Amino acid sequence: MNLIFLGPPGAGKGTQAKITSEKYGIPQISTGDIFRKAVADQTELGKQAKAIMEKGELVPDNLTIELVKERLAKDDVKAGFILDGFPRTIEQAKALDNFAEIDAAINFEIDKEEIVRRLTGRRICSNCGAIYHITDFPPKVPGICDKCGGKLYQRDDDKPEAIEKRLAVYTKQTEPLITFYSSAGKLRNINSSINPETSEKQLIDIINSIKA
Ligand code: ADP
Ligand code: ZN
Repeated sequence: MNLIFLGPPGAGKGTQAKITSEKYGIPQISTGDIFRKAVADQTELGKQAKAIMEKGELVPDNLTIELVKERLAKDDVKAGFILDGFPRTIEQAKALDNFAEIDAAINFEIDKEEIVRRLTGRRICSNCGAIYHITDFPPKVPGICDKCGGKLYQRDDDKPEAIEKRLAVYTKQTEPLITFYSSAGKLRNINSSINPETSEKQLIDIINSIKA
């Protein structure tokens, strides 16, 4: 089962990708996570990506495509994978068609006010990566991860100026993928504006229909 999770920042695709990955035992491949790790580890890739990411812009297609191509050559994707945050441009989607067979592109739909509300309140554990929200899903002790006691932080690109930029980039470069996958007969929509449980239910129905 080879899936793409598509949607604007804040739609909850990362959260659902994590749940789905654990439930079905297939890896979640998040290009955002890979880039953030590269930045933290100060690798060559990280050095190239850092300033671009802080501004909320996209890492160049050639770098991103090569990265995913190499990742999908590994053995652990044989039973399937979830691409979370890739492809994000038409060029990436066309390249992906040359090295992977996709079953479905799942599109997480949500309106703009809700995106901004979610992203500005999002906090991440610096140790284990767990995701919180200051009002929707607060940790028991403010600023501290329930699971591991790690310190929570706000991503630089979850600050208001970067959010505006990310939304603009999404609309211009990523939204066209909805038509791309719809034309290919692979698009499945999820109403992602209610809560994580509702998104998960819709997702399970879609996955069951794919596996059937
Ligand atoms: P978001 O919450 O905006 O979906 P991600 O964690 O997926 O964020 O990505 C964070 C940043 O990493 C992006 O703003 C972009 O700079 C970079 N990035 C992630 N995936 C891609 C991609 N497929 N192509 C180009 N840049 C990417
Ligand atoms: Zn933690």
